[in-house]
Amino acid sequence: MNIYRSDLHIHTCLSACAELDMTPPKIIKQARDSGLQIIAITDHNSAENLPAFYSISGGITVFAGMEITTSEEVHILAIFNSYEEIKPLQEIIYRSLQGPEFDGRLGYQLIVNEKEEILSFSKRPLIGATGLSTREVVNLIHKFNGLAIASHIDKEVFSIISQLGFIPPDIKPDALEISCHMGMEEAKRRFSDLGLPIIQSSDSHHLKDIGRAYTGFLIERPAVEELRLALRGESGRKIIGIQKADDSMEYNF
Ligand SMILES: [Zn+2]
Ligand SMILES: [Zn+2]
Repeated sequence: MNIYRSDLHIHTCLSACAELDMTPPKIIKQARDSGLQIIAITDHNSAENLPAFYSISGGITVFAGMEITTSEEVHILAIFNSYEEIKPLQEIIYRSLQGPEFDGRLGYQLIVNEKEEILSFSKRPLIGATGLSTREVVNLIHKFNGLAIASHIDKEVFSIISQLGFIPPDIKPDALEISCHMGMEEAKRRFSDLGLPIIQSSDSHHLKDIGRAYTGFLIERPAVEELRLALRGESGRKIIGIQKADDSMEYNF
């Protein structure tokens, strides 16, 4: 088995809040320069920039993700092995998006190819919420065999804890993500009662942030099934540690 440095929360230029430089080739280059072996592309409510990564990913495994906004404005990461696997969920998310067409006032939502050429401007209201509850979103992700990770639970907005006040017992994400500046000691103090594994990722909206925070997984090969085992601590797979935005690697598990 090997340790895979994994940054499971990276936005592209399809997220209006991300910088336009967040294109597939630039993200791959930055991931490689940061020493990552696994990344997940997690745009708001869409995975449409995924196909552009596959021909240029080199040795880096690119998981297909979305950061889904639930009806309670909770952000949940959905992580799948491939675009093919996430597409059925994307269709459901698209149908459930609320609000008017995106008018470009808040930025751009660019669908690009591997050469950074613009294929289209998405007009879907990706920045808004879906009509699906947090419970429904987590259940849907599991129905399609993906991982459901509660985003940046330490943030005061858009986190399951900020929006719901707690994690209801019938909502079972596979992991909780802490944002890039929190250390493990504080995370343990605040969140160990919740009884769920904790990971860390960068939530990059800018190239320079890719890989600034990551999780090390001891797994057999880079696949979502392996991450699931590591999160559960089964079959010898495990989380080795997390890296927050400064350089102190914190071992805990
Ligand atoms: Zn978020
Ligand atoms: Zn995000």
